[in-house]
Amino acid sequence: MSDHANISIFVPHIGCPNMCTFCNQCHITGSVDTPTADDVSAAVETAKKSKTYNPFNTEIAFFGGSFTAIEREYMIYLLESGYKYVNDGTAKGIRISTRPDAINEEVLEILKKYGVTSIELGAQSLCDDVLTKNKRGHSAKDVYNASNLIKSYGFSLGLQMMTGLYGSSDDKDKRSVQHKIDFLVRRHTCAAHSQHSIGRGLAALLVHLDAGGMLCFR
Ligand code: SF4
Repeated sequence: MSDHANISIFVPHIGCPNMCTFCNQCHITGSVDTPTADDVSAAVETAKKSKTYNPFNTEIAFFGGSFTAIEREYMIYLLESGYKYVNDGTAKGIRISTRPDAINEEVLEILKKYGVTSIELGAQSLCDDVLTKNKRGHSAKDVYNASNLIKSYGFSLGLQMMTGLYGSSDDKDKRSVQHKIDFLVRRHTCAAHSQHSIGRGLAALLVHLDAGGMLCFR
């Protein structure tokens, strides 16, 4: 049985100030509609009917777009719609995904207040030239700064990665992976978890590197 489950709610491109060369969130999520509290409730009720549903390993996950870059009032509305299920024990927390340059202390205080437990950062490469060529609008340093801040607030951190981006290469992708693993190992105090991250990261890399794809290291 999986040790983690997400109840995923997709928030389209709204709020993201960027237009990375590889991104078409409307296409990816299949939606241009913005989710409502009713959509969150419907997703939760559907998940609860699943045979594998377990409140202790389930997070309500706002994926797509850049969650912390969306308009503040709407972001808090979505957080409130998920937080009530954290409060009543239906889910263990909330997971969000966002850009490294949409993280700061003020944002993290809000996320903490509304039951966010995990943050996935779009850190698609740690090579500045690859980030520039794909119009990511941030640098590798922004990834490290945001990651350190997230960990200092006690959130679980996931570093997403896209292999095979324009201007990248196997060597560059491998370097990005190694830097991410090094960072995560440095930030973890538990050796077993570090080993787990390394093993999982390398295994995922082997599967994905050839085809080009998306990974997430935790
Ligand atoms: S930061 Fe994310 S949502 Fe925004 S354009 Fe890039 S890939 Fe798309």
